[in-house]
Amino acid sequence: TRKPIIAGNWKMNLNHFEANLLVQKLAASLTAEQLEAVETVVLPPFTDLRTVESVIADGKLKIKYGAQDVSPHAGGAYTGEIAGAFLAKLGCSYAVIGHSERREYHNESDELINAKNKAAFAAGLVPIFCVGEGLDIREAGNQVEHVLAQVDAGLEGLKTEQLQQIVIAYEPVWAIGTGKTATPDDAQEVCGAIRARLVEKFGAEVADVVRIQYGGSVKAANIAQIMAQPDVDGALVGGASLDAEEFVSIVRFPE
Ligand code: 13P
Repeated sequence: TRKPIIAGNWKMNLNHFEANLLVQKLAASLTAEQLEAVETVVLPPFTDLRTVESVIADGKLKIKYGAQDVSPHAGGAYTGEIAGAFLAKLGCSYAVIGHSERREYHNESDELINAKNKAAFAAGLVPIFCVGEGLDIREAGNQVEHVLAQVDAGLEGLKTEQLQQIVIAYEPVWAIGTGKTATPDDAQEVCGAIRARLVEKFGAEVADVVRIQYGGSVKAANIAQIMAQPDVDGALVGGASLDAEEFVSIVRFPE
């Protein structure tokens, strides 16, 4: 059985003072039992990570955290980039790789995303590897084909023990920040197809342990029906993760 994983992608929101406040609020509202039942992750901007590390370490909290991107390079003359090793040193467990906003605004290719997945693992981070189709592809009915091609390219060359740890986030681009949530059936269709592809390529033993998240306008009001889908093991939450009360309600979906 796969442990549910709810991750809050803060995107480019909250400076380190605001980050401190939000994590303190999460810590005050979530019990150790709740954090045991649902793996809870926050994904702040790089500049907040030191602060988030301190709050979580001081409180001995079982909240995990990660970055929103990682350099494909291990280190060196790459101005403005952040190495996976730096993130691991800050206690990060995860790195978001290939978010649709990076694919779109930074022209990230499947090849670059594959290199970042490998760089994350090399540094001891687990990728939250994002895939998803735009509205044109959805309207043409090609979402499954499109997403599976992204999955194939992103996972190219990963080792079995890496595949067993990776988190795949299915985020239909048309549902991000639009208030338009995919129906639970839409989410299941693609998440189920991703798992079937993993079975086909890597075998059931790998496919059974990979956690697949849905992302796109997830909120407290729709989390339960999304999580009820057999191949949806978690959520990647954007806007609703910036509000402590809302994010806590999402994490507490099993209740
Ligand atoms: P929203 O939850 O704001 O739609 O964002 C989803 C997302 O992109 C999370 O990575």
